[in-house]
Amino acid sequence: MRAVVTAMDIGRPAGLLLVLSAPSGAGKTTLARRFIGASEDARFSISATTRAPRGAERDGVDYHFVSPERFAALVAEGAFAEWAEVHGQRYGTLRSTVEEALAAGRVAVFDIDVQGGAQVRALWPASTVAVFVLPPSMQELERRLRARSTEPDSAIARRLAVARSEVERGCSQYDYCIVNDQLERALTELKAVVACERARLGGGEDRAAAAIAAPLRREELDPRPWLA
Ligand code: ADP
Ligand code: 5GP
Repeated sequence: MRAVVTAMDIGRPAGLLLVLSAPSGAGKTTLARRFIGASEDARFSISATTRAPRGAERDGVDYHFVSPERFAALVAEGAFAEWAEVHGQRYGTLRSTVEEALAAGRVAVFDIDVQGGAQVRALWPASTVAVFVLPPSMQELERRLRARSTEPDSAIARRLAVARSEVERGCSQYDYCIVNDQLERALTELKAVVACERARLGGGEDRAAAAIAAPLRREELDPRPWLA
């Protein structure tokens, strides 16, 4: 029988799949980039999508931008760990991205929707921590989406229309909820969640991180202000 050698067996920390979801405009991309910029071994999981690049987005950096035909071929090949249709476009996480992160003992950061987050967790339950990012309020969510000026009004309306159901699912299914009112505070909280979960995966405990992370557990949040 072949022994399975994991990153931990050879002295590296265990890989962690950090799923970050939020209603569009809540600031998860901003938070994810700040987190990755501040962490030596965290990498952004680059998804494939059929949507067009917006703003300064670059192919192979922000997304793998592919045609609908290419996306369908990747689905047929079984290349995706998960994929979903979001806001009328297709988005998917490549299986190879996840496997490489786990083998290297890194933190892979997934900026994916709640459907995708549930699928990643179902495939790699022991290695996944799912964090839902909430805007301070639904009014502020709309303000941020408009201030970002990257979508036409019709796309903003579509994103706001699905925000409520995303909040409902995120607040009932994710491990942690972080309110992104002040970015620096939200970043400190995200770092603590990761430190706490990595320590746990390694069979230990990070008490300082756990003290920050514990109140952020899903069960501690009352989601009613976002659903009213
Ligand atoms: P998402 O990836 O969730 O769609 P973005 O990261 O693109 O959201 O953020 C949406 C807009 O809100 C951007 O213009 C971003 O600069 C802004 N933003 C993000 N976090 C905050 C915050 N804590 N306070 C104010 N504005 C923020
Ligand atoms: P955006 O068009 O704003 O970049 O992303 C729209 C939505 O698609 C966001 O909620 C984002 O998290 C989600 N998304 C991006 N990549 C993936 C992916 O690979 N899989 C899934 N399921 N959702 C994704």
